[in-house]
Amino acid sequence: MTQTVNADTKAQVIAAYHDHPVFQCSTCSATIALQDELISKSFSGRDGRGYLMHSAINLKMGKREERGLLTGVHTVADVYCMGCNERLGWHYVKAPDNAQKYKEGKYLLEREKLVKDNAWKLDE
Ligand SMILES: [Zn+2]
Repeated sequence: MTQTVNADTKAQVIAAYHDHPVFQCSTCSATIALQDELISKSFSGRDGRGYLMHSAINLKMGKREERGLLTGVHTVADVYCMGCNERLGWHYVKAPDNAQKYKEGKYLLEREKLVKDNAWKLDE
């Protein structure tokens, strides 16, 4: 008996980075970001630790809103996985002051919503 691809299989081709470690959605395994794009692991997400990323893919943007974060009121947009609609974090649209400007255009991804594609070097 061989396993055949069923009708629920997504036809959409999701970008793959060969030979580069990536973070994937923990729910549907869509590729979300290159591990190289990680800026910091010491951010806070909504429910736990968060990763600040330079860029991310396969995400849908939610509505922009003002949100009070630890470092002030930021304009952010929640981001959702293209594959499964799970909320994975948010996109920083606008920061409240110069000290926070470096976050603009970056992504905060909830650590517990991500898995590494290869389980190499789990460092915590
Ligand atoms: Zn997903």
